[in-house]
Amino acid sequence: MLVDDFGRAVSGVRVSLTDRCNFDCVYCHNEGLGDTRGPMDAQDHEMDTDDVVRFLEVAREFDVEAVKFTGGEPMLRQDLEEIIRRTPDGMEVSMTTNGTFLPGRAPDLKAAGLERVNVSQDALDPDDFAQITKSGAYDQVIEGVEAALAAGLAPVKLNMVVFEATAGYIPRMVDHVAANDGLQLQLIEYMPELVGNPEWAVDIDRVHGWLEEQADRVEHREMHDRRRYYVSSEDGDGEGMVEIVDPVENEEFCANCERVRVTHDGKLKGCLNRGDDHRPMGGMTKPEIRETFRETVANRVPYYGEYLVEEDGEWVLNEKYVRKPATADD
Ligand code: SAM
Repeated sequence: MLVDDFGRAVSGVRVSLTDRCNFDCVYCHNEGLGDTRGPMDAQDHEMDTDDVVRFLEVAREFDVEAVKFTGGEPMLRQDLEEIIRRTPDGMEVSMTTNGTFLPGRAPDLKAAGLERVNVSQDALDPDDFAQITKSGAYDQVIEGVEAALAAGLAPVKLNMVVFEATAGYIPRMVDHVAANDGLQLQLIEYMPELVGNPEWAVDIDRVHGWLEEQADRVEHREMHDRRRYYVSSEDGDGEGMVEIVDPVENEEFCANCERVRVTHDGKLKGCLNRGDDHRPMGGMTKPEIRETFRETVANRVPYYGEYLVEEDGEWVLNEKYVRKPATADD
């Protein structure tokens, strides 16, 4: 396994298969690539099936153990089942999706080797859902979650971004997963780094505090500084697992980050939050991919605590990473 200068072994890759999306969520960072709106048809700049598989084969050579497919909306790729089928043995395969295309395709994805799925679900009310996602596909998402469960993809993790428009839903959402077998909840702290609107953020410590009060038990996973809360349903018949992902200004989180990312157009990047560390994998031959993977790992640094450092309560760019303008001597 490749290890960076901060002792972080790269055990996982997160591969964006497209930047196209049928939703236009108001909070979306689109993996750091900007606007998701645009044509829904396959685009020339996207990695093709063979490119994705070749990349995964190289990642496996470096002992990468897990791949998560994302986007844009990864299920807009009609070759997703083939990509999953051709993912090298020994790599756990998961996906993050908005869920709308799971009805009908979930059994094939499972048969192809998909092991886990996260479905973004930010509200339990069709009107609020429509406002957040700019889509009227609430019923399809609910059907998508059911299709994933029916196909044997349990537990299905529901991803909910916690910000001002969703914070009021947390209690209902927690009860929803507690009352329904096979569901788990992942509350993701709103990350303003790439999208702006920092005023949308809510105090995630308050959410931790509230969950602590509700939970029958709490597990603390030291490695990732993540807590898991086990909460009973209101009717007392069920129990749900809720996890909080809170990377914002969290040095511990960055110190334990083991993921390298791939953009839909075949660039490697060492950190979600950085737009200045993209490395194209050239013509995507295996030697080029190997070289770019090594370089990416060698250059990756924790975002909070190293790329950004705290000075007088403010996070500022570490001088080491300021790009100097070229001079005549360069
Ligand atoms: N289309 C898929 C979906 O809807 O899940 C995959 C792509 S989406 C960019 C992947 C994940 O990023 C989702 O779970 C979403 O909740 C999360 N996400 C997007 N923007 C975010 C932000 N500003 N802060 C925190 N999480 C965000």
